[in-house]
Amino acid sequence: MAETFDAIVIGGGAAGLMCAIAAGRRGKRVLLVEHANRVGKKILMSGGGRCNFTNTGTTPANYLSGNRHFCKSALARYTPWHFIEMVERHGIAYHEKELGQLFCDESSKQIVKMLLDECAAAGVRIETSCSIERVQPGDGGAALSGNFHVHTTHGAFSAPALVVASGGLSIPAMGATGFGYELARQFGHTVLPTRAGLVPLTLSGKHQERLADLSGVALPVTASCNGASFSNFMLVTHRGISGPSILQVSSYWQPGDELRIDLLPGLDALETLQALQRERPAAELKTVLGELLPKRFAQRLCEVWLTGPLSNRPIKQFNAPQLREIAETLQHWPLVASGTEGYRTAEVTLGGVDTDELSSTTMQSKRVPGLFFIGEVVDVTGWLGGYNFQWAWASGHAAGNAV
Ligand SMILES: Cc1cc2nc3c(=O)[nH]c(=O)nc-3n(C[C@H](O)[C@H](O)[C@H](O)COP(=O)(O)OP(=O)(O)OC[C@H]3O[C@@H](n4cnc5c(N)ncnc54)[C@H](O)[C@@H]3O)c2cc1C
Repeated sequence: MAETFDAIVIGGGAAGLMCAIAAGRRGKRVLLVEHANRVGKKILMSGGGRCNFTNTGTTPANYLSGNRHFCKSALARYTPWHFIEMVERHGIAYHEKELGQLFCDESSKQIVKMLLDECAAAGVRIETSCSIERVQPGDGGAALSGNFHVHTTHGAFSAPALVVASGGLSIPAMGATGFGYELARQFGHTVLPTRAGLVPLTLSGKHQERLADLSGVALPVTASCNGASFSNFMLVTHRGISGPSILQVSSYWQPGDELRIDLLPGLDALETLQALQRERPAAELKTVLGELLPKRFAQRLCEVWLTGPLSNRPIKQFNAPQLREIAETLQHWPLVASGTEGYRTAEVTLGGVDTDELSSTTMQSKRVPGLFFIGEVVDVTGWLGGYNFQWAWASGHAAGNAV
């Protein structure tokens, strides 16, 4: 005989824990099933161990989705300030790093402990190291008291509400699986194609060879792709490029798409070069570029992409068309990315359960009453900077108040 609950939540990550808390607080009997040996593993590793738990500037514009309106309702009803209130109530010290990003002063362990304490206070039962063998829709017969029958390695459970919070495919080593997508398909849902997001880009051939030995060099850039632009640091890696601006733009990039990298963000390169020509005519091009960019990077840029040996010449010797060409290369560095590092290092998975088939206020399936999808498994993906956790909290809260 299956043990019965009001709701079963599959996945003990950010979204699942928040959903369980919200439902438990309403007096619902909630079971949370996690196949890893502990809950919240991604929270623990997030933000370099300090968890960038929200962003005070969160708006729907910070998310990618097939339907950009879908996230609005949940985000409006559970804002960063609601989560901050919980963090403060638990006495967790935090700070703003930059651009509205809030981090724990000490450790992301505090966020997991807070969520576990809230689960305990709300009477949530948590089963860890518990694998799901199969999920069956109830047939309403005597053997099943709920609409969903969940067979696990810890026994059979049933409930009229089933919440899928099993996350995306990023970092398989942390327990990520395609389980949520498979379950969605099992119940007739459309799953939009998935790909790695917030992920380093890789280079190949000449592009990689030209930069590989500069691994570790970082510089501010504006990276743009398909209408999105991000100004922040770029980091050269052994395999390609990374750093916040590249991670952000990677979510908008697909193989073959043009990537635009402005190496002098906020400056008009031509005006800057013309001013240098007037003020320091005898200075070598590579010297002045070495003052605007990291020296080794400027040197390589000159050798490979700019004027080669001519860059040893004084800047006064470059004529107007040459100067324009150099400015164009600085403002539109013609680097061709060949791919991404994939799910192994991606922070998020783009795509997922199609939002057209979910209610934006409750996250409930429009196809199967009682079935909910929340967090990263849904086709809503945030920018870097605390937006993904905010979506997990908000969508989890929306479902927790509806089960
Ligand atoms: C390295 C890294 C750093 C990050 N840093 C930040 C950050 O600082 N700020 C931010 O906003 N976002 C960050 N993110 C993104 C953020 O972690 C995710 O967007 C968020 O965790 C998604 O929450 P979720 O609950 O939907 O999924 P997850 O947190 O992935 O949780 C899903 C849970 O389901 C479990 N599960 C999977 N399959 C099954 C199954 N079959 N049965 C039972 N359980 C299952 C998993 O083990 C996991 O515990 C980071 C991601 C990574 C990888």
